[in-house]
Amino acid sequence: MSISKRLQATLSELPNHVTLVAVSKTKPITALQEAYDAGQRIFGENRVQEMVEKYHELPKDISWHLIGHLQKNKVKYIAPFVSLIHGIDSYETLLEVDKQAKKHNRTIACLLQIKIATEDSKFGLNFETAKEILANIQRSPLKNVYIKGLMGMATFTENKQQIQKEFSKLHTFFKTSELEVLSMGMSGDYKIAIEEGSSMIRVGSAIFGSRQ
Ligand SMILES: *Cc1c(COP(=O)(O)O)cnc(C)c1O
Repeated sequence: MSISKRLQATLSELPNHVTLVAVSKTKPITALQEAYDAGQRIFGENRVQEMVEKYHELPKDISWHLIGHLQKNKVKYIAPFVSLIHGIDSYETLLEVDKQAKKHNRTIACLLQIKIATEDSKFGLNFETAKEILANIQRSPLKNVYIKGLMGMATFTENKQQIQKEFSKLHTFFKTSELEVLSMGMSGDYKIAIEEGSSMIRVGSAIFGSRQ
């Protein structure tokens, strides 16, 4: 099946309140262009350099989401154009985003990444630290950063019940936060994520095919 067919198939099942981020990491410009021509305007990348290169080559009405872990020293490269940063996992990174956004006279929307998986490898804040950061920001707002929501990745497992529990826990926390966006769900688990309250899914291989 073509990229545009898989994109349409994914979109056709989505409830109206759920936004699709097409995760195009490792994929060539031609693949992104095909999704763009089929109407997709939100793309997710996990590497700063790759996202910057693609930004320069593709139409300027694309919204670029940085979905992976973000190192502080790389914030400056995406600050001119990034539309949503999903992977904020420290207050220090937020401060750096604020500083770099200011240089471009922008306010950058960010999601706090919460660790809900049991695996060690996944980045993210625990609920307590996330609460502290949100309280901090309320007390002394950062002018050029806007915390728009939360992001989480479930454990990579066949156990649907475990995935469901992890998403459900994040949704419960999200509901107490008064934030707008809950980013959870990837190719393998986005249907569960939507049932558990996701409003933004990040889908790569189901649209673009598997990665090497
Ligand atoms: C790669 C990636 C995705 C998409 O993964 P697929 O399984 O290909 O849909 C989603 N979120 C993050 C953070 C990723 O790194």
